[in-house]
Amino acid sequence: MGGTETKYVQEAFDTNWIAPLGPNVTGFEQDLETYIGQETYVAALSSGTAAIHLGLILLDVKAGDEVICQSFTFSASANPILYQGALPVFVDSEPETWNICPQSLEEAIKDRLKKGKKPKAIIAVHLYGVPYQVETVRSVADRYGIPILEDSAEALGSTYKGQACGTFGDIGILSFNGNKIITTSGGGAIVTKTKELKDRAVFFSTQSRDNAPHYQHSEIGYNYRMSNICAGIGRGQMEVLDKHVAMRRDMNAFYQSLFSGIESVTVFTVPNADYFSNCWLSAITVDPAKANGRTREDLRLFLEKRDIECRPLWKPMHLQPIFAGNPYYGGNVAETLFDQGLCLPSGSNLTNSDRKRIADAFIDFF
Ligand SMILES: *Cc1c(COP(=O)(O)O)cnc(C)c1O
Repeated sequence: MGGTETKYVQEAFDTNWIAPLGPNVTGFEQDLETYIGQETYVAALSSGTAAIHLGLILLDVKAGDEVICQSFTFSASANPILYQGALPVFVDSEPETWNICPQSLEEAIKDRLKKGKKPKAIIAVHLYGVPYQVETVRSVADRYGIPILEDSAEALGSTYKGQACGTFGDIGILSFNGNKIITTSGGGAIVTKTKELKDRAVFFSTQSRDNAPHYQHSEIGYNYRMSNICAGIGRGQMEVLDKHVAMRRDMNAFYQSLFSGIESVTVFTVPNADYFSNCWLSAITVDPAKANGRTREDLRLFLEKRDIECRPLWKPMHLQPIFAGNPYYGGNVAETLFDQGLCLPSGSNLTNSDRKRIADAFIDFF
């Protein structure tokens, strides 16, 4: 927390705005619209997962439809496809950004078209804060006229060619879950290009009430709006967002220098200067062929004994029991990342003595 969050929360109590609407909700949305720019409209919601669900609804995804989704991601990117009764079709990553591979994406689209179904949407993700190949993915999507749902849950504060992540999709989503770059304890947002679409998202998120004095409903409703209390936390967090990004990037620079002399370790980093990462999580891959056969799991267990928690990278969706049997296009990039990758301690609040303890442990292992 930055400190001013409680001021906004106190205001909510003082003015009795204890509801899923109020000045903090409006203020937080305006702060986000100003921060990401590009004349976008933001609706604050109860979670990033809810935002993905409403995004699919706004893109008219219905039962029996197919939606293409990056396989290497958190399950919340894909689960809402199932909420709609649609079929997730998974696609591999490319090794540069670890995100959706444009070639595999095109292969998937062509094959689904050949099988007689045009995918309704493409879910592309900016994992660990690193933007996906924005232009190439967009050109593939446009070639076939398929909209992009941009999962920017991990990438608030990241940019590509100076433009904010969250603004590249036909619809974008953000998350303010407790583990993200800023948090509202739990929360999310949907980013749209028009006021009409934002209004539709708010309509669905507040139980789809028709314009009538009584309670009348012509469409399925959801209880997905953000509370004015949580939005107060969000307003305070917006004041420290850039500071959090700077601290995470500094942590990443620490790892770059720590591992510069260790041949078996590659620190995940952006491919070139067009990409700017918020460095939400710092991650490495460990090549066992260069580490005397030792794996990332050997490293993880070694660190665990020293009370330093690391976690494997996301396990790809096409390898998850819940998605067994779903179509998958690509090779083994995502699978290799899962086998060799580790997320490192990346918090915005690590001290110099934490860093020393981490560095000593890695040096002892290698
Ligand atoms: C956190 C996350 C989500 C879900 O956001 P919640 O606010 O936790 O529901 C979706 N996609 C990715 C890639 C995430 O990291």
